[in-house]
Amino acid sequence: MAETTRAWRTVLDHLERELGEGRLGPGDRLPGERELAARLGVGRSSVREAVRVLDVMGVVRTATGSGPSAGAIIVARPGAGMSTMLRLQTAAQAFGVDDVVATRVALEVAVVGTLAAAYDDTHLAPARELLVAMGDDALAPEEFLALDARFHLALAEATGNQVMLAVMAGLRTAIEDYVRLGLARIDDWSATGARLHAEHTALLDAVASGRADAARTCVADHIHGYFAQIRP
Ligand SMILES: [Zn+2]
Repeated sequence: MAETTRAWRTVLDHLERELGEGRLGPGDRLPGERELAARLGVGRSSVREAVRVLDVMGVVRTATGSGPSAGAIIVARPGAGMSTMLRLQTAAQAFGVDDVVATRVALEVAVVGTLAAAYDDTHLAPARELLVAMGDDALAPEEFLALDARFHLALAEATGNQVMLAVMAGLRTAIEDYVRLGLARIDDWSATGARLHAEHTALLDAVASGRADAARTCVADHIHGYFAQIRP
């Protein structure tokens, strides 16, 4: 599972180097998904994840309808948010999991509080789509958790706060690692998956109805609840 996490980081590091050393720059098109996957020896889904991160960080814009990296055009050099995110990614390997979880709660409580206070449904469309996708009972636990990670990132993205987003994205590998490693400790995935889905639904409802306190409680309970379940 951690393979996947490392693979998208490999793609991101490669693209960061290409951009940093001027082999790619604004106006250029990113190499295609298939080409990058073959060159770096990773799966195409990892390339897609890395391109999505670049999109979120405002480095590329992806055309819709043609596959995420097929239409990815570089629109900016990586800025401070991007390097903060990458540095955090590296440092996060040495962070203690309790500290990662505590920081995650602090950030996400702020994220949903902000969203509930200034509710704007258009910014929440990606999170809503991910919520629908997570409702599919046929999802494997790993697939559900990958969507779950994107759901939380989509909420941070919806705030429009680039600093918050950079920090969240920087902690992403550390978060995905503890979440996925914890799977081995869950006896009854279908009950856990159903609970997580219900919690996400309640969280979005609280945000959409402007109940900031309820949204903050929901997200803190959601993160603490899963961690308590998988904690060694
Ligand atoms: Zn979640």
